[in-house]
Amino acid sequence: YQTLAEADPDVAKIIEDETWRQFSGLELIASEASRTADPSSPSSILTMSSIMQNLTSLAVMEANGSMLTNKYSEGLPGARYYGGNEHIDILENLCRERALKAFNLDPKVWGVNVQPYSGSTANFAAFTALINPQDRIMGLGLPDGGHLTHGYYTAKKKITASSIYFQSFPYRVTPGTGLIDYEQLTTNAGLYKPRLIVCGASAYPRDWDYQRLRKIADTNGSYLLSDMAHISGLVAAGEQNSPFEYCDVVTTTTHKTLRGPRAGLIFFRKDKENDMEQRVNQAVFPACQGGPHNNTIAGIAVALKQAADPAFKAYAQQVIANARTIAKVLSSHEYKLQTDGTDNHLVLWDLRPLGLTGSKIEKICDECHITVNKNAVSGDTSAQVPGGVRVGLAALTSRSMKEAEMETVAAFLHRAVQIALTAQKEAGDKLLKNFVAAFSNKDNESAKLLEQ
Ligand code: PLP
Repeated sequence: YQTLAEADPDVAKIIEDETWRQFSGLELIASEASRTADPSSPSSILTMSSIMQNLTSLAVMEANGSMLTNKYSEGLPGARYYGGNEHIDILENLCRERALKAFNLDPKVWGVNVQPYSGSTANFAAFTALINPQDRIMGLGLPDGGHLTHGYYTAKKKITASSIYFQSFPYRVTPGTGLIDYEQLTTNAGLYKPRLIVCGASAYPRDWDYQRLRKIADTNGSYLLSDMAHISGLVAAGEQNSPFEYCDVVTTTTHKTLRGPRAGLIFFRKDKENDMEQRVNQAVFPACQGGPHNNTIAGIAVALKQAADPAFKAYAQQVIANARTIAKVLSSHEYKLQTDGTDNHLVLWDLRPLGLTGSKIEKICDECHITVNKNAVSGDTSAQVPGGVRVGLAALTSRSMKEAEMETVAAFLHRAVQIALTAQKEAGDKLLKNFVAAFSNKDNESAKLLEQ
């Protein structure tokens, strides 16, 4: 047996560097939730247990890196195309049970497929199950916070499968408020009569009015699908509206606020008349995928068990409290935030009034070990050079940070903007970088010195 460092020092080094990057900076990516690094033993993250910021994720990673990766198991529990699946069947059934339990769902009414490799494939499989090629779909536009897989295309090209294989008619947020324009959606859905309405987003800081969306869907004979990828951990914790009451199908990634491995889930109403169970299962396999990634399914099962724990509710509440603190401090500096605040784990910061781009702030923050991502804000025309930055608080909350630390993080972000606006870029960068490193490693003494 050789360790990774012995067998492949190049890859081991990359993992070590990335582990260190994750530990030593401030991760503010809205779609990342967990923190697993240990600077004292970066190349053996699966075996060490000290100084962990997030033990639950260690358990998930252990399952994810297990022997289960060796097994082929096309099909479903009890109906496989390969032998030797007696343990895998138990695992997949356990994962399905836990997925339903995590969202309080009655197994007589709801079913779930736990095999999708990612959120994107879960969405494409769900679309495949529900509608026919070239049917009309309506999802939130990308510059308005929607995801690529909800029908995104550019003026020049249909760049996503969801716009190539379906006719996409995006809905928008109201310019100015940044809130979903339900009125316009009602009008346009009446005109386009979509077969499918998709709700859910990658960058929308407010909760969803599922009841209203259901009404629009019913009026126009549309299916209603919620892609709750970003907020599924908050939904499991009961801290956001549940889409299950009103939607036909609900998809999610498992690696954002749910804190699992990278994968997807598709929940469906067991509608006998429409045979939804069979349609979804067949859309996943064989229509869109081959053999399930059983190691990942084990990681999902572990994450779902953790999501059912009362401690997870406290985590979700803290994520929201932290996002609100960031929003409050940034607003106190008169910055423009999309929707003027947040109800969930992210803040969408509009830098256009300052004449700055999100790309510039992302770059400056990167140099200072603060990881944010540039993001389109309503009215933006370029996804490459958008006018906003998305700030997510799930990862820092995994590191036990609370409101007091958020005040400091917001001060760093404010400083980054000041640096962008002033000429002293180099000196400012150095100072901010040291400051973040000191704060991130909880070296309070140096942080205080640097603060002066
Ligand atoms: N749906 C939403 C709302 C997302 O934000 C994302 C990813 O960010 C996805 C789907 C796609 O997930 P994946 O990257 O796992 O394919």
